[in-house]
Amino acid sequence: MPEQNPYEMAKKQLEDAAEIIELDRGIVDYLKVPDRVLQVKVPVRMDDGRIKVFTGYRSQHCGVRGPYKGGIRYHPDVTLEEVIALSMWMTWKCAVVNIPYGGGKGGVACNPKEMSEAELERLTRRYTTAILPLLSPDRDIPAPDVYTNPQTMAWIMDTYSNIMGYAVPGVVTGKPVEIGGSEGRTASTGRGTAIAAREAAEVLGIPIKDASVVIQGFGNVGYYAAKILAEWGAKIVAVSDSKGGIYSEAGLDVDEVAQHKAYTGSVIGFDGVEEITNEELLELECDVLIPAALENVITERNADNVKAKIISEGANGPTTPEADRILEEKGVFVVPDILANAGGVVVSYFEWVQDLNRYFWDEERVNAELEKVLVRSFKEVVSIKKEYENKKITMRDAAMILALKRVVKAFELRGLWPQ
Ligand code: NAD
Repeated sequence: MPEQNPYEMAKKQLEDAAEIIELDRGIVDYLKVPDRVLQVKVPVRMDDGRIKVFTGYRSQHCGVRGPYKGGIRYHPDVTLEEVIALSMWMTWKCAVVNIPYGGGKGGVACNPKEMSEAELERLTRRYTTAILPLLSPDRDIPAPDVYTNPQTMAWIMDTYSNIMGYAVPGVVTGKPVEIGGSEGRTASTGRGTAIAAREAAEVLGIPIKDASVVIQGFGNVGYYAAKILAEWGAKIVAVSDSKGGIYSEAGLDVDEVAQHKAYTGSVIGFDGVEEITNEELLELECDVLIPAALENVITERNADNVKAKIISEGANGPTTPEADRILEEKGVFVVPDILANAGGVVVSYFEWVQDLNRYFWDEERVNAELEKVLVRSFKEVVSIKKEYENKKITMRDAAMILALKRVVKAFELRGLWPQ
């Protein structure tokens, strides 16, 4: 989140939700700070023989509901405060879909685009060793985030397993299937975003078949959301990437667009469509808008021009708080990120369960279980929104309240030790 300090923003969101449910001050203070953070130095032998020292972090926000869970990010802008904020959001995300984890997040301040594969492997193995005292399948289970991928997770799994002396697939999720990853994991976030959009359409009485869908960002989340919604009969009228967007009133063939992007590097240049900017895309007439690229794209500047009936947030933090208020007044149904993009962490949870049981599911079962978890969570958030109708809360507030109540309940049941 460029302009705002993410940790300040995360604390403010907590304060706001706590105020609505009149939460005890001491518990708010308890949740405002992480359980534990670790900062480590990560010295790496670069390909030219020099030693370069990077800084890495791991934040464990709140462990009352289970082991810590959250991604590892490689990016030049990674800071301790950002990692703490992201770990706090993971606590809410896991709680809103009711999977038994607390929030965690890690990162290394580095520029992976300027590093070779071998340098990234050495960095990953050294970082894993440095944060090893925090990790274990019962303690803290990382996953991919920005600029880390299944190969990075394979290196973490291998490093941890070598030190333990036996294979420990459950120490990390988002692995390749050949070493304990889960079927359906790659598509899971996009699938969840599509399910959230479909459920919102049902609430509004809009048939998903023939519903018009606009998607910003045609990467992992955007592509799979588009593909799955198209399978359900929805019409994908516009998609975009960092180079711009394409629009077709008749609807796009998602796989043909994906092939074109794989071949040329962009959706731009696809035959028989109108080219539009990313700004225009957000303001298109449609039933469903899926921001699946960046944060802060729907702001007080353009929220009033958004014509979608539903927004299902594939990206993290695409809508600013000011825009949220405008959208609420306009009656746009916003499914917040902590619910709409939770499909990834839910299937990560399934991966961990499969690893611990040494018994693997087929893709059909993964998708059916994901569907069950997300539909249940969606309905629970809608019912919290109804419960607090007199306080005029948004779906985002409702999701946050559901999550917060679950975390607080676990805290109260476990009690404070020593007393
Ligand atoms: P990705 O890198 O696969 O795809 C991102 C897409 O956004 C690309 O098509 C890129 O071209 C496009 N893009 C970049 N800048 C853009 C711009 N200025 N305008 C329009 N498009 C632009 O990433 P992803 O994994 O699909 O993640 C997308 C978002 O979803 C991120 O906010 C991420 O944090 C969030 N998310 C992802 C997952 C997951 O499992 N992948 C889980 C939860 C949340």
